[in-house]
Amino acid sequence: MIPSILPTYARAPLSFVKGEGSWLFEADGRRFLDFGAGIAVNALGHAHPALVDALTQQARTLWHTSNLYHIPNQQALADRLVAHSFADTVFFTNSGTESCELAVKMARKHFFEKDMPERVNIIAFEGAFHGRSSAGIAAARSEKMTRGFGPLLPGFTHLPWADHAALDAAITPETAAILIEPIQGEGGIRPLPDQCLKGLRDLCDAHGLLLILDEVQCGMGRTGRLFAHEWAGIEPDIVMVAKGIGGGFPLGAVLATESAASGMTTGSHGSTYGGSPLACAVGCAVMDEMTAPGFFDHVSRVADHLRQGLERLVATHPSVFEAVRGSGLMLGLKCTAPNTDVLQAAYDACLITVPAADNALRLLPPLTVSREEVDEALARLDRAARQIAGPAPATT
Ligand SMILES: *Cc1c(COP(=O)(O)O)cnc(C)c1O
Repeated sequence: MIPSILPTYARAPLSFVKGEGSWLFEADGRRFLDFGAGIAVNALGHAHPALVDALTQQARTLWHTSNLYHIPNQQALADRLVAHSFADTVFFTNSGTESCELAVKMARKHFFEKDMPERVNIIAFEGAFHGRSSAGIAAARSEKMTRGFGPLLPGFTHLPWADHAALDAAITPETAAILIEPIQGEGGIRPLPDQCLKGLRDLCDAHGLLLILDEVQCGMGRTGRLFAHEWAGIEPDIVMVAKGIGGGFPLGAVLATESAASGMTTGSHGSTYGGSPLACAVGCAVMDEMTAPGFFDHVSRVADHLRQGLERLVATHPSVFEAVRGSGLMLGLKCTAPNTDVLQAAYDACLITVPAADNALRLLPPLTVSREEVDEALARLDRAARQIAGPAPATT
């Protein structure tokens, strides 16, 4: 008999009933250190006082009106995002995949309104993840997400990761945009080197293409800056945001330059819930915390500490871990042992991590994680690795 919840997830036998900072409380009373943060969503940890205040105050005042009217919180959040980024304009969504839908529509409309309606094709990359909507699965085109769901939305070209020659050859008069994650998340924490992101910017400029970045996972402070692309010193045309921007409340956004967004005229797009008073009250509180002096310094400092500890773990347990990769607090352990075994052993040590493709394990703690909590997570990972590696070989 089909379960009352559609069985599309293989769930771990864990039910959390309460969260506090970097900690989750299991129904049976165990305390788990949360280095998954709801897959990079709880950017400020669980039950952050500023977010709880923002949400409860707004809940007592006004939940929902409509985008038929002005929404002061939405205006305030858009102004903050524009002030702190490359963007001139913002559209609010409720999820990453909705941001993908709009990014694709916006790019196509941009060229349509510029009398280049043939430019509809979007170049995306193997190992990418852009969500589960029709555009999202067509853009990423993994076997798992697309099998049986055809016909797929046309207009996407797929290239291997880091194949420059293939990229040059793939650009045609029908190409509208290049879509890429500055750090692949689901793909196994694969960072795009800054030099390559600069190269993509140059390539887009040379061919008049739009550069669309999916920063749903790597954006909103994850790498120690508001957006990951800032490290490369480039400005994209369109950026997809979600996950961390709501700190756990459903909220997403598409950020764009005035030129990229020029085709999006009145009536051309909309959303019932996008940018609601509740969501934007929380989004403003998230932005206030992240842009407060010292916030990103803290992220960079604890991230360095975590990375150094992970490098030591890799050196100590070569039969379990192969390498550390990623940036800031978006780190991955490429595993030697099956990543599902390491995930399970970490659960046994009451540590939450998140598996990813390429036999990687993701470490995505709240950005507010303390140095002491990082030390505790490293100790728990060490315990997990010992459990997998078995007894140490006898010294001779
Ligand atoms: C999670 C994610 C998405 C999809 O976000 P949803 O909110 O689940 O729709 C898209 N792109 C990236 C890079 C993601 O990590």
